[in-house]
Amino acid sequence: MSVTQPARKPRGRQFFANPGPTNIPDSVLLATAHQTVDFNDPNFIEVYDACVAGLKRVLKTTQGLFLYTGSGHAAWEASLVNLLSPGDRILILESGYFSISWANMAKDLGIEVQSVAADWRRGVDMAAVRAALAADTAHGIKALCVVHNETATGMMIPIPEVRAALDATGHPALLLADTISSLGSLDFRMDEWGVDACVGGSQKGLMLPTGMSFTGVSAKAMEAHKTSRLPKHYFNWTNMLARPHRSFVGTVPVSFFYGLQQSLRLIEQEEGLENVFARHTRLGRAVRAAVQHWSGNDGPQLFCLNPGRYSDSVTAILMPEGLNADALRSVALQRFNLSLGGGLGPLGGKVFRIGHLGDLNEPMILGTLATVELAMKVAGVPHAPGGVAAAIDALA
Ligand SMILES: *Cc1c(COP(=O)(O)O)cnc(C)c1O
Repeated sequence: MSVTQPARKPRGRQFFANPGPTNIPDSVLLATAHQTVDFNDPNFIEVYDACVAGLKRVLKTTQGLFLYTGSGHAAWEASLVNLLSPGDRILILESGYFSISWANMAKDLGIEVQSVAADWRRGVDMAAVRAALAADTAHGIKALCVVHNETATGMMIPIPEVRAALDATGHPALLLADTISSLGSLDFRMDEWGVDACVGGSQKGLMLPTGMSFTGVSAKAMEAHKTSRLPKHYFNWTNMLARPHRSFVGTVPVSFFYGLQQSLRLIEQEEGLENVFARHTRLGRAVRAAVQHWSGNDGPQLFCLNPGRYSDSVTAILMPEGLNADALRSVALQRFNLSLGGGLGPLGGKVFRIGHLGDLNEPMILGTLATVELAMKVAGVPHAPGGVAAAIDALA
C-alpha cells in the first residue's frame, strides 16, 4: 500500500495466524479480567496451587517449577543463571533464530558457548551431537541446550534422541529444553525424557497474554543450582523457595493465574491433552498440504526439508527466489486483515510463517489458507492454485 493512502479500518474479526502470541479464547480473556486480590489471600492461593499442579501435569513432571513475570526470555535467563557459573561451557544445538538468541544471551551472561552447527532446513544431525559429547572426555560441557520446536523454521527437534545421545556417551551434562512454542501443542514429557530444566511461556500453546514464563526443574538441576555462581536476584530459585508461593520474587501477577486456571480447564478437561495434540497434528498436516500444493508453478515451498521433524504448531514458508515475503504479508494484512508471522533473523523477507497453535479450529485454518492464496494471487506471487482443496483433502 502506498503511504499516502489513509490506513483502512477493516471490518470483521482479524484472522491472527502468528505463531505467538496466539489467539486467546474468550473464556480465558474474561477470566483474566479479574478484580485485584491480595496474592496471599487464601482464595487466591487455592487458585495458584491448582495452576502450579496443572502446569506440572502439562509439563509431565512431578519435580520443581519456578515462575516469573516476564516473557520467555526471562525463563531462558533464569535457566542459565541458576545452573551455571562464569566461564562454564554449554553446548547448543543450532536450529534457527531462537537457538542463536539463547546462545547470544548465554554469551552476554559470561558463559562459553559451543554449538553443534546445523542446516536450518534439515536440522541438527544427532551423530554430530553424539560426536561433540564423546569428544568432551573431560566433561567441560555443563549443559546441553535445545529448542524443542524452532518457531523460526517450523521444525521440531526430537528431545528423546538428544537424551539418547547424552546417555550413549555417558555424558553428565544437564539437558535444557526450550518448550515455548511446543508446550500445550506438541507432546512434551519432562521427566520421562530426562529433561533437567525446561523453559515455557504463557503466550503460545497456553493461550494466555504475554508476560509470564516458567521453568520446570529436575532434582539433578536443583543440585547444580546450589553451586552455581552467576549473579542473580529476581531469578534466584533459592530466593524464591523462601517466599510464600515458592516462586516469584516480588508481586505475583494474579490475573495470569485466573486466566491460566481457565486455559488449563480447556486443555485438560474440555478437550484433553491428547486431543489437543491430535488437533495440532491434523491442522499442521493441512497447512503443509496446502503449501506443498502451492509449490507447483515455482511457488512458495515448505522451509523445513525434513519430514520427520515437521512442526505441528508452526509452518515456515519460503518465498520463490527474488520475491519478498513481507510484501505478501502486507497485502494479507492491509487488504484482508490476516496477520501472518514474518521471517526472523537471516530469514527476514524470505519466509512468512503460519502459526497453527493454541485456540484454533478447521474453519480458522481454512480461512487463513484461503486468504494466503488470495493474497498470493493479488500480489502476483506464482503458485499452483488449489492449496485450500489440498488442505480440505488432508482434513476430511
Ligand atoms: C517465542 C519464543 C521465545 C521467546 O519468547 P518471548 O516470550 O518472546 O520472550 C523463545 N523460544 C521460542 C522457541 C519461542 O517460540
